[in-house]
Amino acid sequence: MFNPDTLARFQSVETPFYYYNLQLLQQTLTACKTAADKYDFHVHYAMKANFNPRVLELIRDAGLGADCVSGNEVRKAAEIGFGADKIVFAGVGKSDKEINQALDLDIFAFNVESIQEIGILNDLAGAKGKRAKVAIRINPNVDAQTHHNITTGLEENKFGINQWELSDCAEALKNAENLEFIGIHFHIGSQITDLNVFKSLCVKVNEIDQWFSERGFSLKVLNVGGGLGVDYHHPDDKAIVSFEDYFTIFDQFLERKPGQEIHFELGRALVAQCGSLISRVLYVKNGLKKNFLILDAGMTELMRPMLYQAYHKIENISEGYKVEGIRKKDESLNAEPETLTKYDVVGPICESTDCFGKEVELPESRRGDLIAIRTAGAYGEVMASKYNLREGVNSVYST
Ligand SMILES: *Cc1c(COP(=O)(O)O)cnc(C)c1O
Repeated sequence: MFNPDTLARFQSVETPFYYYNLQLLQQTLTACKTAADKYDFHVHYAMKANFNPRVLELIRDAGLGADCVSGNEVRKAAEIGFGADKIVFAGVGKSDKEINQALDLDIFAFNVESIQEIGILNDLAGAKGKRAKVAIRINPNVDAQTHHNITTGLEENKFGINQWELSDCAEALKNAENLEFIGIHFHIGSQITDLNVFKSLCVKVNEIDQWFSERGFSLKVLNVGGGLGVDYHHPDDKAIVSFEDYFTIFDQFLERKPGQEIHFELGRALVAQCGSLISRVLYVKNGLKKNFLILDAGMTELMRPMLYQAYHKIENISEGYKVEGIRKKDESLNAEPETLTKYDVVGPICESTDCFGKEVELPESRRGDLIAIRTAGAYGEVMASKYNLREGVNSVYST
């Protein structure tokens, strides 16, 4: 939902652009922090979801840590001012250069994803005369019940150490004199909307924690990753997810040992709803079977629909339209809503997959109309590309 002032501002900005509602982001962060603090949970923001500087600054100020998946993300997190003691670094393919940069910063933990990486990290830390803190990322073989392209916690996925490797892993950690083994880490997938999945994860975490405990390791950190989903169908009614419900599950089902810290890595649930991609209709093609709205934004600005058949709510927000997508013939109270037309809403890129939504019901739309693609704050702007030598995308912020 955009207020009239915001809509007025949109008229003069060159499209396409990302619009960030920073008030909504702030409210979301407050809700998350309040719910997490209740249980003394630690939350790291998964930076890959959105690394727009304005967004990062608000998240830093809310007191969250940073979860990074590349050396540059680690560097950026430190530059923005996330304390090094709140930065974690995961990734199946950390290069030596990336590891060395993170070692220099003395980050909170490396989330190590293979036995081989334990050896390499141990060597690189030793060469610097440092002792690196590590958590091992374990693949718990829990099905996240989400789209297969964003599932990460099954044995068929490349991420983490499998459970049958745990003995070898424990052995490697014992011999790694330059590493301090602080805990276990999990991240099973993204856009998880069935909270029962997190119960299953808790059961696995307890099992593995116990396994280590029986072998004489006492783990300081249980990091359960992120993955909490948002409601792409109701960006206004369900703008903030229930962090309370989410954290309560972990409070109830994780068997926390005395002194143990519980860490989370949330991305999407924090930033998805505060962002929209705003675009203009360039052309309308009316066909016999299909009508097309051709926008000035495409997969180069927002790739999720093309990459994982993701749904985004699409609205015509031009003046005279109600934001709900129904145009009144005039402002009189009894005016009938105009009939809706079905459009395939597509971008300008030379790929047939460059389509934001098929058979989208919208009021009759014209060249120049503003179109909002909602819930685009996570995995949107960060995936923008230069394909077709596109311009790159601007950002506009709520005032
Ligand atoms: C992407 C990622 C996250 C965040 O996932 P969301 O679904 O955005 O919450 C957390 N941890 C790791 C290791 C990740 O790669």
